[in-house]
Amino acid sequence: MTMTIEHGLQLQDRRDGVGGLYTIATLGSHSALQILKGARDEGFNTLAIANRETERLYRSYAFVDEVITIDKYSDFMSLVPELEQRKIIIVPHGSFVAYLSLEDHKKMRIPYFGNKAVLDWEASRELQRQWLTRANLKLPRQFRTGAEIDRPVIVKLYGAQGGKGYMFVRDAHDFEERASLLARQNYILQEYVIGVPAYIHYFYSPLTGKLEIMSMDRRYETNVDSLGRIPSSAQAGMDIDPSYVVVGNSPLVLRESLLAEAFRMGEDVVRVSQEICGPKGLFGAFCIETIITPDTNFYVMEISARIVAGT
Ligand code: AMP
Ligand code: AMP
Repeated sequence: MTMTIEHGLQLQDRRDGVGGLYTIATLGSHSALQILKGARDEGFNTLAIANRETERLYRSYAFVDEVITIDKYSDFMSLVPELEQRKIIIVPHGSFVAYLSLEDHKKMRIPYFGNKAVLDWEASRELQRQWLTRANLKLPRQFRTGAEIDRPVIVKLYGAQGGKGYMFVRDAHDFEERASLLARQNYILQEYVIGVPAYIHYFYSPLTGKLEIMSMDRRYETNVDSLGRIPSSAQAGMDIDPSYVVVGNSPLVLRESLLAEAFRMGEDVVRVSQEICGPKGLFGAFCIETIITPDTNFYVMEISARIVAGT
């Protein structure tokens, strides 16, 4: 079997005895353990780029062959010239988006698993909305101003990481009272969809033209996932605001009759990506982040164009 990566690099897998010449590298955080364990299972060498706090952790895993330590993840670009000299393939995850700019991504000449043209469409909330709408996905309503709010909304700060700083707002009046907290910040006002979040993990191979649903997860967020542990009568007297900071993920098996629509969503997202970001479009792992309502409709919060932590 031959796998084609950006820059036309040809890789043979372990059965041809060549996989071992290549090293799969990623930043030591987010989903590095899944990526490097998978890489090892496929016969590749593995490299984690860690920081001072995380290096001992990554060294403790037998499937991590090598750890390079940098002071902070945002120093990654200074390692690039060295990595470019080696037979390395980067498999990116959420930390690349968090710690490296779009320009850094594009500058880097190390073979990289994924289509960088997708990054522009993913990074802009506006372009992402266009992409998902063209793929016939249902999106939560968006409000331009506080005065337009006619239902509960979630205030999402730009560049927020892992749900940090998100705010639940009940109505226009509630927004007005708290608007001062948002002064000088960039944010969007999104309809708060009442349902259950489900993150659906896909893999699209342009070599076989096949899309697969690999798995699904739910996130475990503090404190929104624990508020049900306190009776609402007791909460009434307490000053608690829901927060959405992710602390982990657990696997989920989606009701089978929902899978056909989940699959359709993935197919359309890939098809539209090939129209908007060149013929290669979106490939590899990606995730559609949804909330499923009682009428079993999927509302899409976001798309992640790479592996997510719950994969
Ligand atoms: P960390 O290295 O944990 O600070 O994470 C790097 C980036 O990935 C941040 O943007 C995090 O919010 C995001 N992230 C890390 N773990 C998860 C997770 N389990 N679910 C969703 N996002 C995550
Ligand atoms: P995100 O940064 O879009 O992945 O959102 C982080 C978390 O905020 C999600 O896991 C949900 O718990 C919550 N959330 C985001 N968007 C919405 C929405 N439109 N309605 C309800 N909850 C949401």
